Amino acid sequence: MNSFFRYIFPLSLLTLLFSCSEPLEEGIKKVFSIQTEKKKVILVLQPLGDISKEKVKFTKTEIDSFYVFDSIIILAKKELPAMAWYEPRKRYVSDSLLVFLKTLKPANANYLLGLTDKDIATEKGDNPNYGIMGQGYCPGNSCVVSTFRLNKKALSKNIFWDRFSKVVLHELGHNFGLPHCEENDSCLMNDADGTIKQVDKERKYLCTECLKITSVHTR
Ligand SMILES: [Zn+2]
Ligand SMILES: [Zn+2]
Repeated sequence: MNSFFRYIFPLSLLTLLFSCSEPLEEGIKKVFSIQTEKKKVILVLQPLGDISKEKVKFTKTEIDSFYVFDSIIILAKKELPAMAWYEPRKRYVSDSLLVFLKTLKPANANYLLGLTDKDIATEKGDNPNYGIMGQGYCPGNSCVVSTFRLNKKALSKNIFWDRFSKVVLHELGHNFGLPHCEENDSCLMNDADGTIKQVDKERKYLCTECLKITSVHTR
């Protein structure tokens, strides 16, 4: 597999924090150089805590059916780091998890996706700890997805899996340089603003406007 994830132009950093935020990752030049050199593109999945193997395998299958990677590797599970724990709300700070995940990324991997069942949150406006479903650097090499909020008002197990898939593909979209989409209500890159309602409105696709921003290859 070659010639994919070629960015057309660098994106400005979004500073607003939404349902998932997009901090700029240090060392992003590396991403661009990897793409120009057309090296193999490898994604690793990092299970955090007691998330089931079923969910991790599902994540791999869903990513593989949507984005083109040369290889998707599942790492051995790691406990969530104590340094990311936010005692006042008894949940994890996603920004700290991203910092932690960066340290786990193998040198030969291009992207790392952390997966957890634990509740995660980030700073949003005046709220220092706003619950979210995922967060990813935009662009960058790592992102994290939490299943904690995905069961909310889920009338069937299928709805949970559908949401899970869309949040995973959305966070990877940020890593590939896609900001939140305001062009198409059904596009994966809409800002869910921490609510599941928008996720349910979306379909598993990137609109033409998003595809103009990045030439990430979808199947
Ligand atoms: Zn987002
Ligand atoms: Zn879009």
